[in-house]
Amino acid sequence: MNTRIYNARLLTMDGNTDVIENGEVLIKGNTILYAGTAEGAVEYLRTVTEPVVWNRDIDANGNLVMPGFKNAHTHSGMTFLRSAADDMKLDAWLTQQIFPREALLTPDDIYIASKLAVLEYLTSGVTAVCEMYLAPDRIADAMEDSGMRCVQCGGMNNFSQSIELQREWFDKLNKKDSLNSYRLGIHAEYTTSKELLEETAALAKELKAPVYLHNSETEKEVQECKERYNGLTPTEALDEMGMFEYGGTFFHGVHVTDHDMEIMKKHNIAVVTNPASNLKLASGIAPIEKYMQNGITLGIGTDGPASNNCLDMFREMFLVTGLGKVRENDASAIDAAEVLKMAAVGGAHAIGLTDCDALAAGKKADIIMLDMHAPNMQPINNIVKNVVYSGSKSNVLLTMIDGKILYEKGEFNIGEDPEKIYHDVQAIIDRMR
Ligand SMILES: [Zn+2]
Repeated sequence: MNTRIYNARLLTMDGNTDVIENGEVLIKGNTILYAGTAEGAVEYLRTVTEPVVWNRDIDANGNLVMPGFKNAHTHSGMTFLRSAADDMKLDAWLTQQIFPREALLTPDDIYIASKLAVLEYLTSGVTAVCEMYLAPDRIADAMEDSGMRCVQCGGMNNFSQSIELQREWFDKLNKKDSLNSYRLGIHAEYTTSKELLEETAALAKELKAPVYLHNSETEKEVQECKERYNGLTPTEALDEMGMFEYGGTFFHGVHVTDHDMEIMKKHNIAVVTNPASNLKLASGIAPIEKYMQNGITLGIGTDGPASNNCLDMFREMFLVTGLGKVRENDASAIDAAEVLKMAAVGGAHAIGLTDCDALAAGKKADIIMLDMHAPNMQPINNIVKNVVYSGSKSNVLLTMIDGKILYEKGEFNIGEDPEKIYHDVQAIIDRMR
């Protein structure tokens, strides 16, 4: 499938956030051949020895074409729990509502619940996710079958998964297909014994791999870690074990010290912020401005649909900047352009997808088109600010992943009827009542 998109306002995000008027993107298979001005496209095609036949020639009609968003931290299979338990204290929510129901889940339940999440990602312009949940094999099947790009990470803890399984998934899922990949990961310091943490550090060294984990999400978690590890924060304790020799990615990173940030800089550790989840679970506001000042790679995630409850990158982007401004007591903090970079580029880097970060020759064709002919996108003074401050899911006209159009003007192309997916996910939660 070769696609030409023309007459676009183009945000390549290849090193800057400048918008190219009358832009064009040429895609061969799953790879971008060219992204730039229409004149440049003519020039480019003159240099091609074998003419490319376009299967689709899309007139973008002045709409915005840009790299897709990366939902850099989520638990897709938790869609079945959306709005099943809310407005509770975090501990009670987890132990009384979430864990008992998750214990009743089958791998096939997780397969179908993940597909429901994929539908929602596509409507939100998400072209890749970083996933941590149960049954990684079936999640990988769901992602491959529906065409979603997915980086999974281990969620090992004292109650589920193991070093052996992580090693197995690392080998298997990194070779499975072009859409799936796997990273080492633990659920969090507070759910994982010292022995398992040390074994993870050893495995990370052996595989020369970064380690992914929930870290410093709540004040309580940091306090309890200090009690366990002679006053060390989770970041310090894990660093002492040699966990981050090959880097890592922290989910949340709300309650961190200056010394934690030094460790993160030293080991090139990225942070994925989850503002809606942090608000709803009253965890706090992450120090995004400070991370930016320290040059830490930042991505944005929704976290799971039980703690958010929606998988909407537009809402997350607004919250990253809005909450950051409140935290700093400074309306000039965290410019919209920086937030858009986190959502599209930084998130890709935080989850190891460096070939999906921008629209440029040789990059993967993970592309979205946003409607500029909508009231909330007019007038056009500054498109980047429009996307972050007034944009919404309703503006997503098209989502392309790996060169395939999976969502276009409200229609899904994932090989399954959405109504069947809704029905099957409803059946999971009905069974548990
Ligand atoms: Zn999470």
